[in-house]
Amino acid sequence: MAVPFRRTSKTRKRLRRTHFKLQVPGMVECPNCGEMKLSHRICKACGQYKGKEVVEK
Ligand SMILES: [Zn+2]
Repeated sequence: MAVPFRRTSKTRKRLRRTHFKLQVPGMVECPNCGEMKLSHRICKACGQYKGKEVVEK
């Protein structure tokens, strides 16, 4: 089995992980209720989209 020639340094490892993000991108705060929601989707908490368009409840 092939084995890496050099051990990855702490810096290299950390640099590789700089683009690891905590959250799924595209999460925004709902302007109505302040809950985190996916952009371009209706808000699950209050059922609103673009201010007024009420789709559920
Ligand atoms: Zn909302």
